[in-house]
Amino acid sequence: MNPFEYDALPGRVVFGAGRRHEVGAEAQRLGVRRILLIADGHDLTFVDEVVKCLGDLCVGVFTDVVQHVPLEQAKHVRDLATASRATATVTLGGGSATGFGKAVSLTHAIPQIAIPTTYAGSELTPIWGLTDGEHKKTGRDLVVLPKVVIYDPELTLGLPVAIAGPSGMNALAHAVEGLYGPGNNPLMTALALESVSVLSTHLPLMSASPSDLEERSHVLYGAYLAGAVLAVVGTALHHKTCHVLGGLYGLDHGKMNAVVLPHALAFNAPAIPEAYDRLSTVLGGDAAQQLYDLARTLGTPSSLASIGMPRDGVAVAAALIAHEAAANVRPISVEQATTLLNDCLAGERPG
Ligand code: NAD
Repeated sequence: MNPFEYDALPGRVVFGAGRRHEVGAEAQRLGVRRILLIADGHDLTFVDEVVKCLGDLCVGVFTDVVQHVPLEQAKHVRDLATASRATATVTLGGGSATGFGKAVSLTHAIPQIAIPTTYAGSELTPIWGLTDGEHKKTGRDLVVLPKVVIYDPELTLGLPVAIAGPSGMNALAHAVEGLYGPGNNPLMTALALESVSVLSTHLPLMSASPSDLEERSHVLYGAYLAGAVLAVVGTALHHKTCHVLGGLYGLDHGKMNAVVLPHALAFNAPAIPEAYDRLSTVLGGDAAQQLYDLARTLGTPSSLASIGMPRDGVAVAAALIAHEAAANVRPISVEQATTLLNDCLAGERPG
């Protein structure tokens, strides 16, 4: 057996339908008395509910969440935290809402209780991101790792399949790269394979029956496992590719994940024979092909061209990917990155 290292991350997870109503009790448990609620406002009924659950503990509400945590808006929320003398935040929403809570924790060193409503996984990681103009800066700091995460699948019942499918593929990408990313260890392999099994089984069922709470619960659980893997293992070629494309062309994060994942995995396959075999066993056939077919079943876009990648953008992106993914499990040359991007652009089945 190969030697390994594992830095376990702290945090409490509360999982189950209706458990958002326990947010007040969780705040009391943490010993925090003044809470700023940060919500993306996709459903104000849920915001009102959480305000009610927090009662006197709630000293402010911010609902103007936008994607990628722009510095200006982050400053505004930080000022709100200062003015309201908040001693904690509660975030309610997707990765963007979670990101605003992290921005406050970073400067104010106050704890966050995260109530995620998508499958992004940010709630489990100590990674923060802030966008200054065109440039998204990221960093790792334990102070931004939420102290409590409340997963309530009822909150995801309204997540449209058009967002849930790509968001689910994003979660799958966290689990898949968890098998060979830089911080992989046997525990993370076990979690990642379980996550792939749960997500690949239940994403199609959820997409066929979006109002089925049981299916929504399974998918949220699979995404939770994937986020836990991402937080420890980090990322490889697939995520580096998406990061480059997102920065250059502002492509939708989830849709881009759905297109790139089978191709990035197929490229890495020769360097990860054991992981690839185990993944293929869980998926019931060649892993890259199965993921490509799963994405089709979920109705996610098949090509980067269809989500706005310019055809003349390949060269500049390929050069950046070859540079950014230098530490990938299989180093990628500019020529190989060009081939990979051309396949993604056209929506080819991975070879
Ligand atoms: P998002 O938070 O921007 O949400 C996408 C859209 O879905 C928004 O319009 C939102 O209002 C809506 N929405 C959210 N939940 C809903 C629900 N239950 N029902 C209906 N609509 C709902 O997108 P996301 O994919 O959750 O997060 C993406 C962001 O998270 C990106 O900025 C990404 O970089 C970041 N992220 C960070 C990490 C990390 O570790 N730091 C990890 C993953 C993602």
